[in-house]
Amino acid sequence: MSAEKTNLLNLDHAGLEAFVAEIGEKPFRAKQLLQWIHQHGVDDFDAMTNLSKELRAKLKERAEIRAPKIVMDQLAHDGTRKWRLEIDGGSAIETVFIPETDRGTLCISSQAGCTLNCAFCSTGHQGFNRNLTTGEIVSQIWLASKLLGHGPGGTRRITNVVLMGMGEPLLNFDNVVAAIRIMLDDLAYGLSRRRVTLSTAGVVPMIDRLRAECPVSLAVSLHAPNDKLRDELVPLNKKYPIAELLDACRRYCADAPRIKVTFEYVMLEGVNDSVAHARELVRLLSDVPSKVNLIPFNPFPATRFKRSSQEAIDRFRDVLIAESLTTITRKTRGDDIDAACGQLAGRVLDRTRRSRRPASTVNAE
Ligand code: SAH
Repeated sequence: MSAEKTNLLNLDHAGLEAFVAEIGEKPFRAKQLLQWIHQHGVDDFDAMTNLSKELRAKLKERAEIRAPKIVMDQLAHDGTRKWRLEIDGGSAIETVFIPETDRGTLCISSQAGCTLNCAFCSTGHQGFNRNLTTGEIVSQIWLASKLLGHGPGGTRRITNVVLMGMGEPLLNFDNVVAAIRIMLDDLAYGLSRRRVTLSTAGVVPMIDRLRAECPVSLAVSLHAPNDKLRDELVPLNKKYPIAELLDACRRYCADAPRIKVTFEYVMLEGVNDSVAHARELVRLLSDVPSKVNLIPFNPFPATRFKRSSQEAIDRFRDVLIAESLTTITRKTRGDDIDAACGQLAGRVLDRTRRSRRPASTVNAE
């Protein structure tokens, strides 16, 4: 039996350099491979015309460029596009492209399912299968770039990447960071650090590691202004309570005057959307460099929650703005194809037996 081939989509620049050294080639070959794979979207070694025939033959024997298969491709009325990708082992993950006039944002997944079980999130309800490999994370950009093609004048359609799809990126740290390095690499996607946003439910020690190893824009799923409520909505809060989380956020912004953390806050009717909650949130964030993103709750089957009314969302926003907190309400995009925040479900072969756990008591009706 022949040895398993190395999937080059798994390797960042350093990884590719190690790989080419192993097959007796010079380091600059890693640069050429990065460009062929990520800038030209090539998966066939024969198309790499500046490599010798011998090298191409060696690569064909030892390596492959293999992305997950697209099993669904949907377009919403507002132009949002969602792909479902089948990964080895039978689960499926989802990736969403959100076009806007001045940018194009790709929302990617980092795990098949999620272990965190946030009360209002559809991914959480599905259970957890496994971490994605670096290649599976990067493949989402690789595939989307190929399928979207270039914009007018050869501009890139994908200008921003957000790790806000399925999964908790900081619980798949090494693979996520290698994937981000490829996104930032000028020989690959060349995105600037502020155009890559990692969203976390608050894995405190990993926020510090991210800052040390690969600082990018940070979003934190806060959703509640006190521990009692947050314990119920985001169970991870019992392990890393709000005070510790905000300390980590302050450290993340230290020595970087222009950097702010984006706090995501899902608006749940009658749960966390009162004026009193808004005031509590203002006090909480008063000494953290912050922006707030209010996310109207997106319903999914079997949820007990309802979206706050537009009036409640506006009232909440006005309280924050009156206290000079930069606040925007996230537009709901792609909800007719279940592509909006918290609606990504894919297909998760659950290995946690979550369905047998008792449901949380929040807002039980
Ligand atoms: N695990 C990471 C990445 C997921 S990001 C995190 O928690 O940040 C997805 C964002 O959408 C998070 O802010 C999440 O809390 C929010 N979200 C989840 N379910 C939602 C729903 N049903 N409606 C609106 N937003 C939701």
